[in-house]
Amino acid sequence: MFDKILIANRGEIALRVIRACREMGIQSVAVHSTADADAMHVRMADESVCIGPPSGTHSYLSIPAIISACEITGAQAIHPGYGFLSENANFVQIVEDHGLTFIGPTAEHIRVMGDKITAKDTMKDLGVPCVPGSDGGVPDLETAKKIGEDIGYPVIIKATAGGGGRGMKVAKTAADMEQAFMTARAEGKAAFGNDEVYIEKYLTTPRHIEIQVFGDGNGKAVHLGERDCSLQRRHQKVFEEAPGPCITPEERARIGKTCAEAVAKINYIGAGTIEFLYEKGEFYFIEMNTRLQVEHPVTESIFGVDLVREQIRVAEGLPMSFSQDDLEINGHSIEVRINAEKLPNFSPCPGRITQYHAPGGLGVRMDSALYDGYSIPPYYDSLIGKLIVHGRDRPEALARLSRALGELIVDGVDTTVPLFHALLEEKDIHTGEYNIHWLEHWLETNLGNA
Ligand code: ADP
Repeated sequence: MFDKILIANRGEIALRVIRACREMGIQSVAVHSTADADAMHVRMADESVCIGPPSGTHSYLSIPAIISACEITGAQAIHPGYGFLSENANFVQIVEDHGLTFIGPTAEHIRVMGDKITAKDTMKDLGVPCVPGSDGGVPDLETAKKIGEDIGYPVIIKATAGGGGRGMKVAKTAADMEQAFMTARAEGKAAFGNDEVYIEKYLTTPRHIEIQVFGDGNGKAVHLGERDCSLQRRHQKVFEEAPGPCITPEERARIGKTCAEAVAKINYIGAGTIEFLYEKGEFYFIEMNTRLQVEHPVTESIFGVDLVREQIRVAEGLPMSFSQDDLEINGHSIEVRINAEKLPNFSPCPGRITQYHAPGGLGVRMDSALYDGYSIPPYYDSLIGKLIVHGRDRPEALARLSRALGELIVDGVDTTVPLFHALLEEKDIHTGEYNIHWLEHWLETNLGNA
Protein backbone atom coordinates (compact mmCIF):
# COMPACT_ATOMS: atom_id res chain seq x y z
CA MET A 1 0.00 0.00 0.00
CA PHE A 2 1.19 3.52 -0.75
CA ASP A 3 1.90 5.83 2.20
CA LYS A 4 2.66 8.82 0.07
CA ILE A 5 1.71 9.96 -3.45
CA LEU A 6 3.19 12.83 -5.41
CA ILE A 7 0.84 14.73 -7.70
CA ALA A 8 2.63 15.93 -10.84
CA ASN A 9 0.07 18.60 -11.66
CA ARG A 10 -1.56 21.81 -10.48
CA GLY A 11 -4.96 23.49 -10.25
CA GLU A 12 -8.26 21.74 -9.68
CA ILE A 13 -7.02 18.31 -10.74
CA ALA A 14 -4.22 18.38 -8.17
CA LEU A 15 -6.84 19.13 -5.50
CA ARG A 16 -9.01 16.33 -6.83
CA VAL A 17 -6.19 13.82 -6.32
CA ILE A 18 -5.18 15.23 -2.91
CA ARG A 19 -8.79 14.78 -1.75
CA ALA A 20 -8.83 11.13 -2.81
CA CYS A 21 -5.49 10.53 -1.07
CA ARG A 22 -6.74 12.09 2.15
CA GLU A 23 -9.86 9.94 2.19
CA MET A 24 -7.66 6.87 1.70
CA GLY A 25 -5.28 7.89 4.49
CA ILE A 26 -2.42 8.48 2.04
CA GLN A 27 -0.04 11.45 2.43
CA SER A 28 0.10 13.80 -0.55
CA VAL A 29 2.99 15.74 -2.01
CA ALA A 30 2.33 18.78 -4.20
CA VAL A 31 4.88 20.04 -6.69
CA HIS A 32 4.78 23.61 -7.90
CA SER A 33 6.51 26.23 -9.99
CA THR A 34 7.64 29.51 -8.41
CA ALA A 35 4.51 31.11 -9.94
CA ASP A 36 2.33 28.66 -7.99
CA ALA A 37 3.94 29.05 -4.55
CA ASP A 38 0.61 30.39 -3.19
CA ALA A 39 -1.60 27.99 -5.12
CA MET A 40 -4.35 26.03 -3.40
CA HIS A 41 -2.87 22.62 -4.23
CA VAL A 42 0.30 23.61 -2.37
CA ARG A 43 -1.73 24.72 0.65
CA MET A 44 -3.87 21.62 0.69
CA ALA A 45 -1.21 18.92 0.25
CA ASP A 46 0.65 17.47 3.23
CA GLU A 47 3.99 18.52 1.75
CA SER A 48 5.17 20.52 -1.23
CA VAL A 49 8.28 20.88 -3.33
CA CYS A 50 9.17 23.74 -5.67
CA ILE A 51 10.27 22.18 -8.95
CA GLY A 52 11.19 25.15 -11.11
CA PRO A 53 10.40 28.50 -12.68
CA PRO A 54 6.94 29.50 -14.04
CA SER A 55 7.28 28.00 -17.50
CA GLY A 56 5.59 24.59 -17.62
CA THR A 57 8.48 23.18 -19.64
CA HIS A 58 10.86 23.83 -16.77
CA SER A 59 8.55 22.83 -13.93
CA TYR A 60 5.48 20.60 -14.40
CA LEU A 61 7.07 19.02 -17.48
CA SER A 62 10.53 18.62 -15.95
CA ILE A 63 10.98 14.89 -15.45
CA PRO A 64 14.24 15.15 -13.43
CA ALA A 65 12.68 17.73 -11.08
CA ILE A 66 9.63 15.53 -10.47
CA ILE A 67 11.66 12.36 -9.88
CA SER A 68 13.91 14.30 -7.48
CA ALA A 69 10.85 15.56 -5.60
CA CYS A 70 9.76 11.94 -5.12
CA GLU A 71 13.17 10.99 -3.82
CA ILE A 72 13.36 13.93 -1.43
CA THR A 73 9.91 13.30 0.04
CA GLY A 74 9.85 9.51 -0.13
CA ALA A 75 6.72 9.41 -2.30
CA GLN A 76 6.25 5.92 -3.75
CA ALA A 77 3.86 6.75 -6.57
CA ILE A 78 3.03 9.57 -8.96
CA HIS A 79 -0.43 10.64 -10.06
CA PRO A 80 -0.11 12.69 -13.27
CA GLY A 81 -3.61 14.22 -13.42
CA TYR A 82 -4.45 15.19 -17.02
CA GLY A 83 -2.31 17.21 -19.44
CA PHE A 84 1.39 17.79 -18.64
CA LEU A 85 3.11 14.37 -18.33
CA SER A 86 -0.03 12.25 -18.12
CA GLU A 87 0.34 10.75 -21.59
CA ASN A 88 4.13 10.74 -21.85
CA ALA A 89 5.31 7.15 -22.27
CA ASN A 90 8.93 8.16 -21.74
CA PHE A 91 8.04 9.64 -18.35
CA VAL A 92 6.26 6.45 -17.32
CA GLN A 93 9.33 4.43 -18.25
CA ILE A 94 11.60 6.70 -16.20
CA VAL A 95 9.23 6.57 -13.21
CA GLU A 96 9.33 2.77 -13.31
CA ASP A 97 13.09 2.69 -13.78
CA HIS A 98 13.36 4.61 -10.50
CA GLY A 99 11.34 1.99 -8.66
CA LEU A 100 8.31 4.27 -8.40
CA THR A 101 4.73 3.54 -9.48
CA PHE A 102 2.97 5.53 -12.17
CA ILE A 103 -0.74 5.77 -11.38
CA GLY A 104 -2.06 5.07 -14.84
CA PRO A 105 -1.53 2.68 -17.72
CA THR A 106 1.78 1.20 -18.85
CA ALA A 107 4.26 3.04 -21.07
CA GLU A 108 3.37 0.64 -23.87
CA HIS A 109 -0.37 1.39 -23.72
CA ILE A 110 0.35 5.10 -23.74
CA ARG A 111 2.70 4.74 -26.69
CA VAL A 112 0.22 2.72 -28.74
CA MET A 113 -2.71 5.06 -28.09
CA GLY A 114 -0.62 8.25 -28.38
CA ASP A 115 0.06 7.57 -32.03
CA LYS A 116 -3.33 8.02 -33.64
CA ILE A 117 -2.64 5.71 -36.58
CA THR A 118 -1.41 2.85 -34.39
CA ALA A 119 -4.31 3.48 -32.02
CA LYS A 120 -6.82 3.22 -34.85
CA ASP A 121 -5.22 0.04 -36.23
CA THR A 122 -5.19 -1.51 -32.76
CA MET A 123 -8.82 -0.62 -32.10
CA LYS A 124 -9.90 -1.89 -35.51
CA ASP A 125 -8.21 -5.22 -34.76
CA LEU A 126 -9.99 -5.31 -31.38
CA GLY A 127 -13.36 -4.98 -33.10
CA VAL A 128 -13.99 -1.30 -32.36
CA PRO A 129 -15.74 0.56 -35.24
CA CYS A 130 -13.59 3.31 -36.83
CA VAL A 131 -14.13 6.29 -39.17
CA PRO A 132 -13.50 5.23 -42.79
CA GLY A 133 -10.25 6.67 -44.09
CA SER A 134 -6.70 6.09 -45.22
CA ASP A 135 -4.95 2.88 -44.33
CA GLY A 136 -2.31 4.45 -42.10
CA GLY A 137 -0.13 7.45 -42.96
CA VAL A 138 -0.46 9.36 -46.21
CA PRO A 139 3.00 10.03 -47.69
CA ASP A 140 2.28 12.74 -50.28
CA LEU A 141 -0.28 15.02 -51.84
CA GLU A 142 -0.92 12.74 -54.81
CA THR A 143 -1.91 9.88 -52.53
CA ALA A 144 -3.99 12.28 -50.41
CA LYS A 145 -5.94 13.38 -53.49
CA LYS A 146 -6.54 9.80 -54.53
CA ILE A 147 -7.84 8.91 -51.04
CA GLY A 148 -10.07 12.00 -51.09
CA GLU A 149 -11.65 10.75 -54.32
CA ASP A 150 -12.02 7.22 -52.97
CA ILE A 151 -13.71 8.00 -49.67
CA GLY A 152 -15.52 11.09 -50.94
CA TYR A 153 -15.35 14.72 -49.75
CA PRO A 154 -15.45 16.30 -47.24
CA VAL A 155 -12.42 14.72 -45.54
CA ILE A 156 -10.33 15.66 -42.52
CA ILE A 157 -6.53 15.50 -42.54
CA LYS A 158 -5.09 14.76 -39.11
CA ALA A 159 -1.59 14.78 -37.70
CA THR A 160 -0.86 11.33 -36.29
CA ALA A 161 0.83 12.90 -33.25
CA GLY A 162 -1.90 15.55 -32.89
CA GLY A 163 -3.85 16.46 -29.79
CA GLY A 164 -5.80 19.26 -28.18
CA GLY A 165 -7.54 19.98 -31.46
CA ARG A 166 -4.29 20.90 -33.22
CA GLY A 167 -3.02 19.47 -36.48
CA MET A 168 -6.46 18.88 -38.03
CA LYS A 169 -7.68 20.43 -41.27
CA VAL A 170 -10.86 19.86 -43.25
CA ALA A 171 -10.91 19.68 -47.06
CA LYS A 172 -14.48 20.30 -48.23
CA THR A 173 -13.68 19.57 -51.86
CA ALA A 174 -10.73 18.37 -53.94
CA ALA A 175 -9.76 22.02 -54.46
CA ASP A 176 -9.04 22.40 -50.71
CA MET A 177 -6.86 19.31 -50.48
CA GLU A 178 -3.48 20.83 -51.19
CA GLN A 179 -3.77 23.59 -48.63
CA ALA A 180 -5.38 21.37 -45.96
CA PHE A 181 -2.81 18.61 -46.43
CA MET A 182 0.16 21.00 -46.24
CA THR A 183 -1.21 22.89 -43.24
CA ALA A 184 -1.99 19.75 -41.22
CA ARG A 185 1.52 18.48 -41.92
CA ALA A 186 3.14 21.78 -40.99
CA GLU A 187 1.11 22.03 -37.77
CA GLY A 188 2.00 18.47 -36.83
CA LYS A 189 5.66 19.21 -37.41
CA ALA A 190 5.61 22.51 -35.51
CA ALA A 191 3.52 21.40 -32.52
CA PHE A 192 4.52 17.75 -32.15
CA GLY A 193 7.74 17.35 -34.16
CA ASN A 194 6.08 14.80 -36.47
CA ASP A 195 4.63 15.64 -39.88
CA GLU A 196 2.91 12.31 -40.55
CA VAL A 197 -0.78 12.73 -41.36
CA TYR A 198 -3.71 10.47 -42.13
CA ILE A 199 -7.12 11.07 -43.68
CA GLU A 200 -10.64 10.37 -42.47
CA LYS A 201 -14.09 10.91 -43.84
CA TYR A 202 -15.32 14.16 -42.32
CA LEU A 203 -18.64 13.55 -40.60
CA THR A 204 -20.85 16.59 -40.97
CA THR A 205 -23.35 16.29 -38.11
CA PRO A 206 -21.87 13.92 -35.51
CA ARG A 207 -22.03 14.06 -31.75
CA HIS A 208 -18.93 13.48 -29.66
CA ILE A 209 -19.63 10.45 -27.49
CA GLU A 210 -16.91 8.95 -25.33
CA ILE A 211 -16.93 5.75 -23.33
CA GLN A 212 -15.27 5.61 -19.91
CA VAL A 213 -13.44 2.34 -19.42
CA PHE A 214 -11.54 0.99 -16.46
CA GLY A 215 -9.19 -2.01 -16.35
CA ASP A 216 -7.42 -3.91 -13.60
CA GLY A 217 -4.35 -4.76 -15.70
CA ASN A 218 -5.13 -8.47 -15.42
CA GLY A 219 -7.57 -8.91 -18.25
CA LYS A 220 -10.61 -7.59 -16.44
CA ALA A 221 -12.30 -4.37 -17.50
CA VAL A 222 -15.63 -2.57 -17.22
CA HIS A 223 -17.25 0.39 -18.94
CA LEU A 224 -18.97 3.26 -17.18
CA GLY A 225 -21.23 4.35 -19.99
CA GLU A 226 -20.81 7.42 -22.13
CA ARG A 227 -20.34 11.16 -21.85
CA ASP A 228 -21.69 13.47 -24.52
CA CYS A 229 -19.14 16.24 -25.12
CA SER A 230 -20.54 17.61 -28.35
CA LEU A 231 -20.59 21.24 -27.25
CA GLN A 232 -17.15 22.29 -28.37
CA ARG A 233 -15.33 25.38 -29.49
CA ARG A 234 -12.32 24.81 -31.72
CA HIS A 235 -12.47 21.10 -30.88
CA GLN A 236 -12.27 21.94 -27.17
CA LYS A 237 -15.05 20.72 -24.90
CA VAL A 238 -16.96 23.30 -22.87
CA PHE A 239 -20.08 21.45 -21.61
CA GLU A 240 -20.24 17.72 -20.93
CA GLU A 241 -22.99 15.44 -19.75
CA ALA A 242 -23.75 11.87 -18.80
CA PRO A 243 -25.65 9.92 -19.85
CA GLY A 244 -25.74 11.14 -23.47
CA PRO A 245 -29.20 12.54 -24.29
CA CYS A 246 -29.40 10.57 -27.55
CA ILE A 247 -27.96 7.20 -26.51
CA THR A 248 -30.36 4.35 -25.78
CA PRO A 249 -29.67 1.74 -23.08
CA GLU A 250 -29.22 -0.86 -25.84
CA GLU A 251 -26.66 1.26 -27.71
CA ARG A 252 -24.81 1.95 -24.44
CA ALA A 253 -24.68 -1.74 -23.59
CA ARG A 254 -23.47 -2.65 -27.08
CA ILE A 255 -20.71 -0.05 -27.51
CA GLY A 256 -19.78 -0.25 -23.82
CA LYS A 257 -19.29 -4.00 -24.06
CA THR A 258 -17.17 -3.65 -27.21
CA CYS A 259 -14.94 -1.09 -25.46
CA ALA A 260 -14.62 -3.03 -22.19
CA GLU A 261 -13.73 -6.19 -24.09
CA ALA A 262 -11.17 -4.33 -26.21
CA VAL A 263 -9.31 -2.92 -23.21
CA ALA A 264 -9.59 -6.20 -21.30
CA LYS A 265 -7.86 -7.95 -24.20
CA ILE A 266 -4.86 -5.64 -23.98
CA ASN A 267 -4.71 -5.90 -20.14
CA TYR A 268 -5.30 -2.19 -19.81
CA ILE A 269 -4.84 -0.81 -16.31
CA GLY A 270 -6.64 2.18 -14.81
CA ALA A 271 -8.95 4.77 -16.32
CA GLY A 272 -9.23 5.33 -20.05
CA THR A 273 -11.59 7.01 -22.45
CA ILE A 274 -12.46 5.77 -25.90
CA GLU A 275 -13.69 8.68 -27.99
CA PHE A 276 -16.20 8.28 -30.79
CA LEU A 277 -18.07 10.38 -33.23
CA TYR A 278 -21.70 9.25 -33.31
CA GLU A 279 -23.87 9.83 -36.36
CA LYS A 280 -27.11 8.20 -37.50
CA GLY A 281 -26.91 5.44 -34.91
CA GLU A 282 -23.29 4.49 -35.69
CA PHE A 283 -20.17 4.92 -33.56
CA TYR A 284 -16.82 5.79 -35.15
CA PHE A 285 -13.66 5.58 -33.03
CA ILE A 286 -11.43 8.68 -33.17
CA GLU A 287 -8.95 8.28 -30.32
CA MET A 288 -8.27 6.86 -26.88
CA ASN A 289 -7.11 8.97 -23.96
CA THR A 290 -5.04 6.93 -21.52
CA ARG A 291 -5.69 9.08 -18.47
CA LEU A 292 -8.34 10.66 -16.31
CA GLN A 293 -10.37 13.17 -18.33
CA VAL A 294 -11.28 16.70 -17.28
CA GLU A 295 -14.95 15.67 -17.50
CA HIS A 296 -14.66 12.50 -15.37
CA PRO A 297 -16.89 13.95 -12.58
CA VAL A 298 -20.10 13.55 -14.60
CA THR A 299 -19.44 9.81 -14.76
CA GLU A 300 -18.63 9.74 -11.04
CA SER A 301 -21.91 11.52 -10.30
CA ILE A 302 -24.18 9.13 -12.14
CA PHE A 303 -22.43 5.95 -11.00
CA GLY A 304 -21.53 7.06 -7.47
CA VAL A 305 -17.91 5.96 -7.85
CA ASP A 306 -14.58 7.67 -7.15
CA LEU A 307 -12.43 7.14 -10.24
CA VAL A 308 -9.26 8.55 -8.67
CA ARG A 309 -9.56 6.24 -5.68
CA GLU A 310 -10.03 3.39 -8.10
CA GLN A 311 -6.94 4.42 -10.10
CA ILE A 312 -4.89 4.38 -6.90
CA ARG A 313 -6.29 0.99 -5.88
CA VAL A 314 -5.42 -0.78 -9.11
CA ALA A 315 -1.98 0.88 -9.18
CA GLU A 316 -1.42 -0.72 -5.75
CA GLY A 317 -2.31 -4.07 -7.27
CA LEU A 318 -5.73 -4.31 -5.63
CA PRO A 319 -8.73 -5.54 -7.59
CA MET A 320 -11.34 -3.06 -8.83
CA SER A 321 -13.95 -2.35 -6.19
CA PHE A 322 -16.86 -2.73 -8.63
CA SER A 323 -17.87 -5.12 -11.38
CA GLN A 324 -19.97 -4.38 -14.46
CA ASP A 325 -23.11 -5.60 -12.71
CA ASP A 326 -22.59 -3.16 -9.83
CA LEU A 327 -22.62 -0.19 -12.18
CA GLU A 328 -26.05 1.31 -12.52
CA ILE A 329 -26.85 4.79 -13.80
CA ASN A 330 -28.54 7.09 -11.35
CA GLY A 331 -29.93 10.34 -12.78
CA HIS A 332 -28.17 12.84 -14.99
CA SER A 333 -25.04 14.95 -14.58
CA ILE A 334 -23.69 18.01 -16.40
CA GLU A 335 -20.31 19.74 -16.15
CA VAL A 336 -19.43 23.19 -17.44
CA ARG A 337 -15.84 24.34 -17.77
CA ILE A 338 -15.26 27.73 -16.26
CA ASN A 339 -12.31 29.41 -17.92
CA ALA A 340 -10.71 32.75 -17.14
CA GLU A 341 -11.46 34.05 -20.60
CA LYS A 342 -13.04 37.16 -22.01
CA LEU A 343 -15.97 36.80 -24.38
CA PRO A 344 -16.61 37.04 -27.28
CA ASN A 345 -13.12 35.97 -28.32
CA PHE A 346 -12.26 33.72 -25.38
CA SER A 347 -9.01 35.61 -24.86
CA PRO A 348 -7.19 34.44 -21.70
CA CYS A 349 -7.85 36.67 -18.74
CA PRO A 350 -5.40 35.96 -15.93
CA GLY A 351 -5.42 38.23 -12.88
CA ARG A 352 -6.36 38.60 -9.24
CA ILE A 353 -9.59 37.12 -7.89
CA THR A 354 -11.11 39.80 -5.66
CA GLN A 355 -14.03 37.67 -4.57
CA TYR A 356 -14.85 33.98 -4.94
CA HIS A 357 -17.95 32.21 -3.76
CA ALA A 358 -18.64 28.61 -4.74
CA PRO A 359 -22.21 27.41 -5.23
CA GLY A 360 -23.53 24.63 -3.02
CA GLY A 361 -26.65 22.71 -2.13
CA LEU A 362 -28.06 19.40 -3.25
CA GLY A 363 -26.40 17.87 -6.30
CA VAL A 364 -23.76 20.58 -6.76
CA ARG A 365 -20.02 19.95 -6.93
CA MET A 366 -17.48 22.67 -7.60
CA ASP A 367 -13.97 21.48 -8.47
CA SER A 368 -11.78 24.56 -8.39
CA ALA A 369 -8.50 25.78 -6.93
CA LEU A 370 -9.70 29.39 -6.61
CA TYR A 371 -9.82 31.39 -3.39
CA ASP A 372 -10.32 35.03 -2.45
CA GLY A 373 -7.23 37.03 -3.36
CA TYR A 374 -5.70 34.30 -5.55
CA SER A 375 -3.83 35.51 -8.59
CA ILE A 376 -4.36 33.36 -11.69
CA PRO A 377 -0.92 33.14 -13.30
CA PRO A 378 -0.67 33.73 -17.06
CA TYR A 379 1.52 30.68 -17.74
CA TYR A 380 -0.94 27.79 -17.78
CA ASP A 381 -4.29 26.91 -19.33
CA SER A 382 -7.28 29.04 -18.48
CA LEU A 383 -9.50 26.42 -16.77
CA ILE A 384 -10.23 27.78 -13.28
CA GLY A 385 -13.12 25.60 -12.24
CA LYS A 386 -15.58 22.91 -13.16
CA LEU A 387 -19.14 23.17 -11.98
CA ILE A 388 -20.78 19.76 -11.90
CA VAL A 389 -24.44 19.21 -11.13
CA HIS A 390 -26.44 16.07 -10.63
CA GLY A 391 -30.21 15.68 -10.84
CA ARG A 392 -32.73 12.85 -11.00
CA ASP A 393 -33.14 13.53 -14.70
CA ARG A 394 -31.85 15.90 -17.38
CA PRO A 395 -34.40 18.71 -16.81
CA GLU A 396 -33.59 18.69 -13.08
CA ALA A 397 -29.85 18.79 -13.81
CA LEU A 398 -30.34 21.76 -16.17
CA ALA A 399 -32.43 23.64 -13.62
CA ARG A 400 -29.82 22.94 -10.97
CA LEU A 401 -27.05 24.13 -13.28
CA SER A 402 -28.87 27.40 -13.82
CA ARG A 403 -29.42 27.84 -10.08
CA ALA A 404 -25.79 27.00 -9.22
CA LEU A 405 -24.37 29.32 -11.90
CA GLY A 406 -26.47 32.06 -10.34
CA GLU A 407 -24.83 31.49 -6.95
CA LEU A 408 -21.28 31.39 -8.27
CA ILE A 409 -19.24 34.56 -7.78
CA VAL A 410 -15.86 34.99 -9.47
CA ASP A 411 -14.88 38.67 -9.38
CA GLY A 412 -11.72 40.28 -10.68
CA VAL A 413 -11.37 38.43 -13.98
CA ASP A 414 -13.66 37.68 -16.91
CA THR A 415 -14.95 34.12 -17.12
CA THR A 416 -17.00 31.92 -19.42
CA VAL A 417 -19.93 31.92 -16.95
CA PRO A 418 -22.06 34.33 -19.07
CA LEU A 419 -21.79 31.86 -21.96
CA PHE A 420 -23.49 29.17 -19.89
CA HIS A 421 -26.25 31.51 -18.70
CA ALA A 422 -26.93 32.31 -22.36
CA LEU A 423 -26.80 28.66 -23.47
CA LEU A 424 -29.35 27.71 -20.83
CA GLU A 425 -31.82 30.04 -22.60
CA GLU A 426 -31.56 27.95 -25.78
CA LYS A 427 -34.25 25.45 -26.71
CA ASP A 428 -31.75 23.06 -28.32
CA ILE A 429 -29.84 22.76 -25.06
CA HIS A 430 -33.05 21.71 -23.32
CA THR A 431 -34.07 19.24 -26.02
CA GLY A 432 -30.49 17.95 -26.26
CA GLU A 433 -30.48 18.46 -30.01
CA TYR A 434 -26.97 19.55 -30.81
CA ASN A 435 -23.97 18.17 -32.63
CA ILE A 436 -20.27 19.07 -32.59
CA HIS A 437 -20.84 22.14 -34.79
CA TRP A 438 -23.78 23.58 -32.88
CA LEU A 439 -21.78 25.74 -30.49
CA GLU A 440 -19.55 27.29 -33.15
CA HIS A 441 -22.63 28.27 -35.20
CA TRP A 442 -24.27 29.66 -32.08
CA LEU A 443 -21.17 31.69 -31.18
CA GLU A 444 -20.98 33.08 -34.68
CA THR A 445 -24.64 34.06 -34.70
CA ASN A 446 -24.88 35.35 -31.15
CA LEU A 447 -21.45 36.73 -30.35
CA GLY A 448 -20.03 37.33 -33.81
CA ASN A 449 -17.30 34.92 -32.80
CA ALA A 450 -15.37 33.48 -35.72
P1 ADP B 1 -7.60 15.77 -30.55
O1 ADP B 1 -6.69 14.64 -30.18
O2 ADP B 1 -6.84 16.94 -31.11
O3 ADP B 1 -8.57 16.12 -29.49
P2 ADP B 1 -9.62 14.17 -31.97
O4 ADP B 1 -9.24 13.18 -33.00
O5 ADP B 1 -10.03 13.65 -30.63
O6 ADP B 1 -8.43 15.24 -31.83
O7 ADP B 1 -10.78 15.09 -32.51
C1 ADP B 1 -11.22 16.23 -31.80
C2 ADP B 1 -12.51 16.75 -32.38
O8 ADP B 1 -12.36 17.03 -33.79
C3 ADP B 1 -13.67 15.80 -32.31
O9 ADP B 1 -14.33 15.82 -31.06
C4 ADP B 1 -14.55 16.34 -33.43
O10 ADP B 1 -15.18 17.52 -33.01
C5 ADP B 1 -13.54 16.74 -34.51
N1 ADP B 1 -13.29 15.61 -35.45
C6 ADP B 1 -12.28 14.69 -35.38
N2 ADP B 1 -12.38 13.77 -36.38
C7 ADP B 1 -13.45 14.11 -37.13
C8 ADP B 1 -14.10 13.54 -38.30
N3 ADP B 1 -13.63 12.45 -38.91
N4 ADP B 1 -15.23 14.16 -38.74
C9 ADP B 1 -15.72 15.26 -38.13
N5 ADP B 1 -15.16 15.84 -37.05
C10 ADP B 1 -14.05 15.29 -36.54
